[in-house]
Amino acid sequence: MESRKLLQLILLCFLLTFSTMYVVLGENVTTNRWSYEGENSPDRWGEIDTKYKTCSTGLSQSPISLTSSNLVRKEAEIEIHYQPTPLVVNNNGHSIEVNYQPGSYAIINNKEYELKQFHFHTPSEHTLNGEKRDMELHLVHQDKEGKIAVIGIFIEEGETNLTLAKISDYLSIRERKQAVTENTIDASNFITENASYFHYQGSLTTPPCSENVIWSVVQEPLEASRQEIEEFIKLYSMNARPIQQRNNRIVELIINQSS
Ligand SMILES: [Zn+2]
Repeated sequence: MESRKLLQLILLCFLLTFSTMYVVLGENVTTNRWSYEGENSPDRWGEIDTKYKTCSTGLSQSPISLTSSNLVRKEAEIEIHYQPTPLVVNNNGHSIEVNYQPGSYAIINNKEYELKQFHFHTPSEHTLNGEKRDMELHLVHQDKEGKIAVIGIFIEEGETNLTLAKISDYLSIRERKQAVTENTIDASNFITENASYFHYQGSLTTPPCSENVIWSVVQEPLEASRQEIEEFIKLYSMNARPIQQRNNRIVELIINQSS
């Protein structure tokens, strides 16, 4: 009887140990398996997990190549209503990301989308007239039904960008996953007045590559100093998905009515 109890106890310990290990490993697998280089690079994303299948089978994937000529022009307005938010700089293992407090939104195609977060890619994901730019900023919005709208902004070398500097100042503290600052940041500073936008239907540029994303990429790049750009490159020299097939998608150029 005693030995049977002991056996049960050993079995229980064994089960607990392995179930805990499974959970820990399982977490790692789902959050960190995909990457930009090596055996889990973008051309393999669709095979890594059944949830990522759209990455290889989707026909409306992002990013795409954008050119300023031969576009369908449309007069419309993208309205930006952003408030400053407390600045917390996150390094999530794939990108540098800043989460946004509720209350900031954009109106795109007469629909309201709340700004959730913004993050950066180096170099740019979309190309502009055949060329990659130094960086690309993604302002990620979501409406009440879960539909996503991303405003993309190219960043290239030029004048110092004081808003970007607020973030790049914290990137040198590499061992920290998160830097909680006493500053606020206002994403509306990234958007120039009367900007024109490349507008098309696409996807998330990271797994699961879901195709429920309305893209509005600003035609005029934003400038930042070489030093600011270098701070991002030191952490992520390559976190951009390659260009995807445009297939038969239409890219419109939205010209703001007020311009
Ligand atoms: Zn992005």
